[in-house]
Amino acid sequence: MSIPLLDLKQQFESIKDEVMPSLAELCASQLFILGPKVEELEQCLSAYCQANYGCGVSSGSDALLVSLMSEQIGAGDEVITSPYTFFATAGAICRTGAKPVFVDIDPVTYNIDVSKIEAAITPRTKAIIPVHLYGQSADMDAILELAKAHRLVVIEDACQAIGAECRGRRVGALGEYGCLSFFPSKNLGCFGDGGMVLCNDQTRAERLKILRNHGMAPQYHHHLIGSNFRLDALQADVLLKKIPHLDDWTKGRQQNAADYDRLFDGVAGIELPREADWSTRHVRNQYVIRILDGKRNHVWEGLKSAGIGCAVYYPVPLHLQECFASLGYRQGDFPESERAAAETLALPIFPELTVQQKETVAETVIQLLKA
Ligand SMILES: *Cc1c(COP(=O)(O)O)cnc(C)c1O
Repeated sequence: MSIPLLDLKQQFESIKDEVMPSLAELCASQLFILGPKVEELEQCLSAYCQANYGCGVSSGSDALLVSLMSEQIGAGDEVITSPYTFFATAGAICRTGAKPVFVDIDPVTYNIDVSKIEAAITPRTKAIIPVHLYGQSADMDAILELAKAHRLVVIEDACQAIGAECRGRRVGALGEYGCLSFFPSKNLGCFGDGGMVLCNDQTRAERLKILRNHGMAPQYHHHLIGSNFRLDALQADVLLKKIPHLDDWTKGRQQNAADYDRLFDGVAGIELPREADWSTRHVRNQYVIRILDGKRNHVWEGLKSAGIGCAVYYPVPLHLQECFASLGYRQGDFPESERAAAETLALPIFPELTVQQKETVAETVIQLLKA
């Protein structure tokens, strides 16, 4: 029995009858760029995330970029973030001309280690981008307090964490900006690329909307240099149909995590994902275990041979990526990020996973640990 890491076809089958007629209508209208569907999505998702405003954009990567652009962050500026995240977090910083400054992660949550942030702040620091990795909130209260003391902007990378909560408050609405991704593998995925910036401040919300459309307001009058960061009406339409199911899908992920926790209970040689005390709602985009004693690659290969989908997020921390060599970081600079890159493995956790599939995954991992 082969088990995929993610099976989006099952989800599509379950919502096909809701989505397809609506897409046909939209095609008949031929109104594809922004428009009422995107506005409805912005209202719906900003409410879901407890933010005042939403700005639909072309991807999670562009959500990060346009947030930085909105603060006029660029050459000569520094932005603090985690080296253990998807490339886009740091890529967006470099795209503006600013310099990413990495701070190591906390080994329990894989999120930025807040106790190490202050030492990385310089007079050039303009912003912090905490990442809510795998669906679990970073310690936002501590980050916001530091940011306030140093007058820094906080841009949350909530691409993996829609609906996650930190001490009862939804992520993405806690900093000045919150970035969401609708890449198909995220908890709320569209039929292609899409993203959103959340914010609470009206001036920022208006500026984001101008920047996503070439800095244009009114038409053909450009007072800012933006770009084409627009979200398609087709993607907004798909997302509007999916939102009513999101909480059930999240419950499915949480149930899967609880089942794995039970199936792996007491097994030697692994560490299970743990929840921080501030993380009051973990939305489980990934279930990532740590495999000790240098056996990660052995288990990874063994699962692949057994037809069980799994992945390493992420095998090379960002400070060791070739494209960032000019930043001057070395092996050993961020030991916890390097250890996570060497020890972690993500197992299937998509909502439709069956009890039998979970048992097979756990049994296979346990067998491989013994060999
Ligand atoms: C997916 C992801 C992004 C980028 O989102 P895209 O929509 O693929 O551009 C950024 N940061 C993190 C942490 C992500 O997981």
